Amino acid sequence: MKLNFQNTFARLPESFFEKNEPTPVIQPSIIAVNDGLAEELGIDPNFLKSDEGLAVLAGNSIPEGAEPLAMAYAGHQFGGFSSQLGDGRAILIGEIGGKDIQLKGAGPTSFSRRGDGRSALGPVLREYLVSEAMHALGIPTTRALAAVMSGELVLREQPEKGGILTRVASSHLRIGTAQYFAARDDTESLKALVEYAIQRHDLEASNALELFQDVIRKQARLIAQWMGLGFIHGVMNTDNMSLSGETIDYGPCAFMDRFNPTQKFSYIDQNGRYAYSNQPGIAQWNLTRFAEALLPLFDEDQEKAVAVAKIELQKFPALFDEAHLAIFSKKIGLPKNHDPELIQALLDLMASQKTDFTLTFRSLSNGPDSFLLNFKDEAPARDWLAKWNAAGTPESSLMKVVNPAYIPRNHQIEKVIAAANQENFAPFHELHKVLQNPYNEQEGFVEMEQPPTPEEIVCNTFCGT
Ligand code: AMP
Ligand code: MG
Repeated sequence: MKLNFQNTFARLPESFFEKNEPTPVIQPSIIAVNDGLAEELGIDPNFLKSDEGLAVLAGNSIPEGAEPLAMAYAGHQFGGFSSQLGDGRAILIGEIGGKDIQLKGAGPTSFSRRGDGRSALGPVLREYLVSEAMHALGIPTTRALAAVMSGELVLREQPEKGGILTRVASSHLRIGTAQYFAARDDTESLKALVEYAIQRHDLEASNALELFQDVIRKQARLIAQWMGLGFIHGVMNTDNMSLSGETIDYGPCAFMDRFNPTQKFSYIDQNGRYAYSNQPGIAQWNLTRFAEALLPLFDEDQEKAVAVAKIELQKFPALFDEAHLAIFSKKIGLPKNHDPELIQALLDLMASQKTDFTLTFRSLSNGPDSFLLNFKDEAPARDWLAKWNAAGTPESSLMKVVNPAYIPRNHQIEKVIAAANQENFAPFHELHKVLQNPYNEQEGFVEMEQPPTPEEIVCNTFCGT
């Protein structure tokens, strides 16, 4: 099958990338192909499952029309700036249907530094499951087109099976892309980036400031959507923040079970920089770094440029609060922009009694008895219910389409990965299938709604590196 590549990114100035082909692997095999997404992209899913398709997904063959490259970017990681990061284990093979087709784990690139450019199977399956679950939950995200086993081992703390994920994104432009050029005083490339981002994402914006406003709006909404699901990204470095407003880089991310606003999972995030309730503040911090990179394009007079950047940045908290309030109002079945105190009171109650985030909201749509089961101490929960009832007439059918029954819980992902490492992919496929329909209870899968037992609780998540 001939794939219809466009490759607009490869037409950008050379400063944007290094040409880099994937490194073949010895004996690849298919784990999953996303039929629906393939069809959306105009690719026959059966082609991807054929030997020829597998060779493409494994990086063993470069399809006609592809122009493999590694993207250049910089970034603040945990607050510290690196002027050169770049695709160290990901290769963009080209664009199909306006989307980036990227092989993650396809071998070293000029940006790999000390890394091997490979990925272990675990992170590949995690990203496949979580990104596709996010999509089904209605959250902007990169997608997963395919997962393959490389047939090779990668050396992490111990040798592990290797995997390659085919990631699909509206683009892989990130705050770190702008920072890369800013760090080199390369204003021409910065201008090219702004122009490209506007065209690529089909924005109404016509200059750097309007692009900046667009990214602020999209990120405010995205982070509020994460918060509404108890999602913790875990590694909100500026290189992991997309200009398209999609969630990107599912490394040490996790959905919370018991509600704790200071929850973090990532093992490397010792100080909780990227904890649940810090996410909006961090997003604003990252956007401030984006503004710094774009300053030369905001105004020739740098003082004026700083002044306009500040005005835009100061809008972020209100934009976030508005989105957050709208989302949580819906979650409790009340009209948009309902009294934030009622929502906060529920969150405080959930935090103090450590109730399961997902189940608490889901049960609210099943009636008071079901809701009260989440609380050890029922009295304050009854008080809250009384206030809630006084506030309006909640519609349980509306609540059910925003409060999922199923989320990709960490302990389930860990079980899937453990089985996959024994070459049993049945649990992966089963969990994936259930997560495609997160807002409807599915017969026979009650277990997948349940929080972990004390022995199953996962305390830490790790980066894929
Ligand atoms: P991430 O944590 O995925 O956002 O990656 C941060 C940076 O480390 C990026 O520049 C990656 O390309 C690079 N990197 C991560 N893992 C590897 C690896 N196994 N080999 C080479 N580079 C890597
Ligand atoms: Mg990254």
